[in-house]
Amino acid sequence: MTQFPVRPLIFVAHPDDETLALGGLLQRLPAPLVVFATDGAAHGYGLERQFGSLKAYADLRFQEAARVMNWIPNAAFKRLTRSDGSHFSDQHLFEDLPDAATSLLAISQTYSPDAIISHAYEGAHIDHDACSFLAMHIAGALSVKLFEFPLYWLDRGGTVIRQQFRDIAAGVRTDGSQATAADVMEWRLSETEIQCKKKMLAEYHSQRGTVSTFAPETERMRLTRNNRASFSFSLCTDYMYQERRPRFYHTRHHRLSAKALLKKFAEFETWRAGQEWWK
Ligand SMILES: [Zn+2]
Repeated sequence: MTQFPVRPLIFVAHPDDETLALGGLLQRLPAPLVVFATDGAAHGYGLERQFGSLKAYADLRFQEAARVMNWIPNAAFKRLTRSDGSHFSDQHLFEDLPDAATSLLAISQTYSPDAIISHAYEGAHIDHDACSFLAMHIAGALSVKLFEFPLYWLDRGGTVIRQQFRDIAAGVRTDGSQATAADVMEWRLSETEIQCKKKMLAEYHSQRGTVSTFAPETERMRLTRNNRASFSFSLCTDYMYQERRPRFYHTRHHRLSAKALLKKFAEFETWRAGQEWWK
């Protein structure tokens, strides 16, 4: 049996991912740290018209995240930040991987987690996948365990699958052997935990359309040994399917291919190999 981490750093793309995936686990841990990767304010969806500006929308999302944290005073959150103090743009994290990794590594070294928990590579939201990739590198750099959770993806019929792993083969057992579906850690929340999680989710008013589609009672994650191969061809076959129906990808005006993401992953690895300080 895989042990639960005691002091995990939970690395997610934007506010609401942490509560949707791990709102119950967050209540149980003594001092978890949630790290948000992007500003959560995507270009191209008319949000600036609706909220006055993209900045106003981003600020609102982080005000909501701060209110969520009030329900779980044991937890804290931080945001990835560039050296000039700016934040990473929603749906463009993959274009900024060196700066994002530098910020995540600095936060991780200060917090000293016993594990990183992040998104599984699902081929649905591009920032989720970029987080999955960064989490793999940071867990490796810190030599800590890496856990991943499922959030959502589209099956071949175009149905949204929530909170189920897309690629069952990517899991691993503590002894390093190949995991099966039976090795997925799954826990049911108590009635008190469900009530608290519902209050947390309700704080994400700006995301209520998304949040309402997730069932709060059960959560899942698994130990993973993601490596470079986890992000390339075998999953990419399915991943390319998104190119034809890019429901979650980018704007209608500027669609992004999975190839562009994998190219940035490769560029990041070249960059990382040249960093003397990156052990
Ligand atoms: Zn998300």
